[in-house]
Amino acid sequence: MNTVHDTPGRSDDPAAPLLARAQTLVTDLSLSSVHAWKTQHPDGLIVGYMPIYIPRPLLEALGCLPVSLFGGGDQVDIIKGDSYFQSYICHIPRSTIELLQSHRYDVLDAVLFPSICDVIRNLSGMWKLLHPQQLAEYVDLPQNFSPDIGGRFYRLEMQRIASALTSRGARPLTDDALREACARENVRRAAIRDMDAIRARQPWRIAASEAYLIIRAGGVLDTVEHTELIRAFTAAVAERKPRIYDNVRVIVVGSFCEQPPIDLIRTLEKAGCDILDDDFQLGLRLIEGDIDTSPNQDPLSALAAAFIDHGAATASRYIADCEKGAALVHKVRTLGADGVIFAAASFCDPALLDQPMLEAALDRADIPYTAFKFSENTGQFQVIREQAGAFSDSVKLWGKVA
Ligand code: SF4
Repeated sequence: MNTVHDTPGRSDDPAAPLLARAQTLVTDLSLSSVHAWKTQHPDGLIVGYMPIYIPRPLLEALGCLPVSLFGGGDQVDIIKGDSYFQSYICHIPRSTIELLQSHRYDVLDAVLFPSICDVIRNLSGMWKLLHPQQLAEYVDLPQNFSPDIGGRFYRLEMQRIASALTSRGARPLTDDALREACARENVRRAAIRDMDAIRARQPWRIAASEAYLIIRAGGVLDTVEHTELIRAFTAAVAERKPRIYDNVRVIVVGSFCEQPPIDLIRTLEKAGCDILDDDFQLGLRLIEGDIDTSPNQDPLSALAAAFIDHGAATASRYIADCEKGAALVHKVRTLGADGVIFAAASFCDPALLDQPMLEAALDRADIPYTAFKFSENTGQFQVIREQAGAFSDSVKLWGKVA
């Protein structure tokens, strides 16, 4: 038997103003806060980036504001975006092109496209053609995790990105600035870890849909401001009063790029699922552990090493001889989850190619799971609610899927 707080977001909830602010930041497609940053920092560059991960401390050390781009979600009608892509790929590039073509991204000085799939790669080429005045760079993240090979390669790649941004007016990179930016990132990661620990231990105190908003808001804030928001939220939820509620404890996997509508996450919660952990906003959680900021350490190598040595297991990360799904099974055991929900964007190759191997690992470990697909603009949740509700009931009654 678990518990949930009375009503998330109600007016006497001390966390309500923070959630309202986060929701505004997340849903503001005109990027007002980014425009405001630009006014306050006329010499700084705004650097957008697609999911999953970009070394944000590198950008902040160059005096840039990193801005995460997650398409238009369920907020934009696709008028032009569809004509750029075949029908059998995911939705996020369509809404991204729609936003680009409707000038919502004009405030960006540069855009980075990390190497996670062919769709993102193709989008980088399209962006170059459509907006040649903006710097558009494909970022090759290493798939070799030897420090001498992948680490060196990634360090060179980050140097290349830094030079490209500096040639567009960013501040030259210095070791001190990068060390300070990494230290700020470590503080943010500690705040996220603390919040995630509360949510996993006491999911009645922090709902997944709330954690999602608080973390995703950081995509348009600098590190210090985002850390303050997380800390304020964590302090506010400490005052929440719980009530008894019977939920099943799950982990959601597969939504690391295209994001489900927030109402879909709330639908899972209403269906009786306490989501202890998820990969919705994996980019800000991808480095598991601190970046080394010791004065005798080359900070660029340290940033590369953090990715090489402490990167989270995910579909776009090669794991060589390690057993696929072992990290997921470990997480289920560590958090005491009852099961797993696979929620992948329709046509997401990385997530859907990974899923059978993860399911096999769960089968071997006798961990129940269910799976569905979504699109960022999915508007009907009833079927998903029934499926998640049946999964929740089944796991509660029999400890497995009937
Ligand atoms: S949703 Fe999947 S396939 Fe689509 S861009 Fe993202 S990672 Fe690539």
